[in-house]
Amino acid sequence: MDVNEKQQILLRMLPGIDHILELAKSEPFFDNIPKSVLARSARYVVENLRRAILNGSPDITDKSLPDSLILENVKNSVQDAMRLNLRRTINATGVVVHTNLGRSLLADDAVENLLTIASRYSNLEFDLSKGARGSRYSNVEDILCEISGAEAAMVVNNNAGAVFLCLETISKGKKVVVSRGELVEIGGSFRIPDVMAKSGGILKEVGTTNRTHLKDYESAIENDTGLLLKVHKSNYSIVGFTADVSLEDLVALGAKYHIPVMEDLGSGTFVDFSKYGLLKEPTVQESVAAGADVITFSGDKLLGGPQAGIIIGKNDLLNEIKKNPITRALRIDKLTLAALESTLRNYRNIDTGMDSIPTLRMLTLPFGHIETKAKELGKMLENIGDTRMSIKLINLSSRAGGGALPLLNLPSKGVGIEVQGISANTIEKYMHNNELPIIGRIEDDIFIMDLRTIQDDELLIIKNAFNNMLKRA
Ligand SMILES: *Cc1c(COP(=O)(O)O)cnc(C)c1O
Repeated sequence: MDVNEKQQILLRMLPGIDHILELAKSEPFFDNIPKSVLARSARYVVENLRRAILNGSPDITDKSLPDSLILENVKNSVQDAMRLNLRRTINATGVVVHTNLGRSLLADDAVENLLTIASRYSNLEFDLSKGARGSRYSNVEDILCEISGAEAAMVVNNNAGAVFLCLETISKGKKVVVSRGELVEIGGSFRIPDVMAKSGGILKEVGTTNRTHLKDYESAIENDTGLLLKVHKSNYSIVGFTADVSLEDLVALGAKYHIPVMEDLGSGTFVDFSKYGLLKEPTVQESVAAGADVITFSGDKLLGGPQAGIIIGKNDLLNEIKKNPITRALRIDKLTLAALESTLRNYRNIDTGMDSIPTLRMLTLPFGHIETKAKELGKMLENIGDTRMSIKLINLSSRAGGGALPLLNLPSKGVGIEVQGISANTIEKYMHNNELPIIGRIEDDIFIMDLRTIQDDELLIIKNAFNNMLKRA
C-alpha cells in the first residue's frame, strides 16, 4: 500500500502503548482497572487509529490525535471491556420465546432452586436411599412420567441433542421413514436431514410436500427400516390441499411391522392452548397417549424452563438410549436440572402454573392488561416533556416464537415513538446501546415496543433510556 507523506506524519504521531499506560496512571478512572484490560484497550485504540490513517480517513488530522482524546478513547474501550458480554436485555419485540434473547424466563422457584444447587453440594449423582452412586437423570424422571403419562424419561443438553441421540441409538445404519412435508429446518442450522446423516440414520423420504398418506409410509417399509419418524412442523404451516398421517395411524403401522415410532415435537407443551383461546398445539400427553415409542421436545420453548432436551417414551427404548455412551457428551448440567425439576413441578397444578411460568403467563396475558401497561408507559414517556417526541399507542400482534404456533397472532398493544430529528434507526441503535439494552422493532419507520414481553419493573428503565437519549440528542 502506498503511504503518502501526510499519512507517514500521522503514523509517526501515534503514541506507543507504554506512553498510554503512563498517561493512564494520572487518571483515577484507571486505578482499579486490571492491567490486562488497560493494555488491550490501549492496543485496540492505537490499532484502530493506525487503520483509519492507512484508509485515509478524513476524520484523522494532527489535531485529532492529542493525548487527551486518545485517553478518552481508551476509557471508552475499557468501559466496554469491563461490561459483561452476556447481559440482561429488555425484550420489547413481543416474541415471547425469542431464541436470540434467551427463550424462556424461569419461574421464581426454578431460579431459587438453581441458586441453591449452584452454590451448595447436592445429591446430583448420589442415591440417598442406597447411599451409593446414583444417576443424575433420575432426578427428573419421576416428575416427567407423572405429568406426561410416559413409562420412562431422560434429559440431555437440548432437543437437537435429544433427536440426535435417539436416532443414533435406534436407527444407526437403518432407514428412517419421514414425510417430505416434515423435513424441517429450524434456526441455527438444525436440519432434520443433516442431523439424520450425522446420526448414521438413512433418510427415506415419503409423500410430497403437501400430502403424505399412510400408504406412502407402508410402501417405504423394507427389511432395514429402523424407525418411523414424525417431526412437528414447528415454524411453518402447510395450508390448502394437504394430508397428514396422524401419530395414532403411524403407531398402528409401526406395530404391524414391529418398527418403533418416534415423534420430535419440537417445542413440546403440556398445556392445551386451545383452552386459553389460542390455537391448538399438540401436547406431550396426547403423543404419549397415541402410543409413540419415543418423544422428544425442548425444555426452553413453550415448556418455559431452561435449555434442555427431553426424551420420554417406552421403557425398552429409553433403556437403550440411556446406555448410549453419547449421552455423556450431551450431558445436562446440574443447574439446568435444578431449574428443570422446579419448572416441571409447576405443572402439577396448571391453574397456578399458567401464572408462575413466565412463558405461559406472557402467552395468555389478557389484552386489557397489556393495554393498561402500554398506556402507563406512554404516559411516563410523555411526562419527560420533550416536544420533539410523539408517542402513540398501536395495536400489534405478538408471536409465540421458538418455532411454535407459527400461525398464531396474539393481539397486543405497543407504544410507538417518533422523535423529530432522530430517525427510527438511530433510536433503535441508541436503545441497543443503552446500559440495559432495549430490543424493539421498527415498523413503518416508527420505533415500537410491544408491552406483552416487557416486564412490569422495566417501564421506568425504558423511560430513563429515552430521557438520556433526548438529553444527548
Ligand atoms: C426447536 C426444535 C428442535 C431443536 O430444539 P433445541 O432445544 O433448540 O435444540 C428440534 N426439532 C424441532 C421440530 C424444533 O422445533
